[in-house]
Amino acid sequence: MTRAVTILGATGSVGSSTLDLIERTPDAFEVVALTAHSDVAGLAAAARRTGARFAAIGDDRLGPALADALAGSGVETGAGESALIDAASMPADWTMAAIVGCAGLKPVMAALEQGRTLGLANKESLVSAGDLMMQAARGHGATLLPVDSEHNAIFQCLDHARLESVRRIILTASGGPFRTWSRAEMAAVTPERAVQHPNWSMGAKISIDSATMMNKGLELIEAHHLFPVGHGRIDILVHPQSVIHSMVEYVDGSTLAQLGTPDMRVPIAHALAWPERMVAPVETLDLVRIGSLSFEAPDPDRFPALALARAAVEAGGARPAILNAANEQAVAAFLARRIGFLDIAAIVAQVLDRYDPAAPANLDEVFVVDGEARRLADELMEVKAA
Ligand code: NAD
Ligand code: MG
Repeated sequence: MTRAVTILGATGSVGSSTLDLIERTPDAFEVVALTAHSDVAGLAAAARRTGARFAAIGDDRLGPALADALAGSGVETGAGESALIDAASMPADWTMAAIVGCAGLKPVMAALEQGRTLGLANKESLVSAGDLMMQAARGHGATLLPVDSEHNAIFQCLDHARLESVRRIILTASGGPFRTWSRAEMAAVTPERAVQHPNWSMGAKISIDSATMMNKGLELIEAHHLFPVGHGRIDILVHPQSVIHSMVEYVDGSTLAQLGTPDMRVPIAHALAWPERMVAPVETLDLVRIGSLSFEAPDPDRFPALALARAAVEAGGARPAILNAANEQAVAAFLARRIGFLDIAAIVAQVLDRYDPAAPANLDEVFVVDGEARRLADELMEVKAA
């Protein structure tokens, strides 16, 4: 039986890894729709190779270029946000949510409303609108499979029917490229240096989040929604080798861990084939060569993003959406060399200080909060630059 698959964010790091797995087992999958933001050539090539039915480009000015690139291929095309939502709404057995940022939220909600299976990489959507997303998944009978490596590890180790038997979830973190650096050293880093992750090859935004450790903060909030054991029972542990992808400790003292080579194709393959298993072309985990695994506590002073995220999940309401939006804005400004590396968490903290609206009750209100947090972040960054 073939599985009909859609990939939202098909040209990115997670999207390409998903395509790689699908294209190696063409008999098992049939591609329904693919989307990208601006990479017309990459999207068109993937759509032709896989025989996708529909290709959507997010930037609506690029609609004609995509139509040209796919002329004669039989692939239908669309452009703009509505086309991304159309792509997500087409009947597919399995959808990969691999758009980066809150830009993925509406397509993710559209996919959940189909009541099928969603592989979730796009953590920002869950951070901003976790309650609404989980509600939509339940309401439409959709299955949400975590693709983020830590959450995929927890999903595999967790006794889902007996959450009360979980003592704690241990979310592992590599510590990023600046794990051992002082604040003074971090102050001067360039975007080129900050995107160089020691273990994983990823898109620019999540690479910067890993360097500030905001990624682990977003993942704490993500875990809180996916695995309702109470956020007080989710701990963060630095593990520089990124071999143990996370652990679940039970009340009887047993701790279960999922291990693997740091290659996103491992959790993607797990979610793609679930509840079965598929062959993935990944390096075998060679523990003799790795020799030893090490662990340390995260340093809240050098990585203030962790405490910001912890406070946001504790307070709930609009706080996680504000944290995420301010962070997206600040990371983009850092990548554009408009602010320094340490300014990222500082800007997020200032936006959280200045803005404390009521909890958003629906998706429109989430976008109001998101927009206002971005506006405030921009304003603060302009003051800084002036
Ligand atoms: P990426 O930057 O490599 O790719 C992002 C994809 O989203 C691209 O296809 C791009 O065209 C699309 N996109 C970007 N902006 C868009 C917009 N405004 N509208 C529509 N589409 C847009 O990112 P990535 O590293 O693949 O990460 C994707 C998501 O997966 C992120 O949420 C990230 O946190 C999460 N994730 C990534 C990894 C990883 O190893 N890369 C691991 C875990 C989780
Ligand atoms: Mg992760």
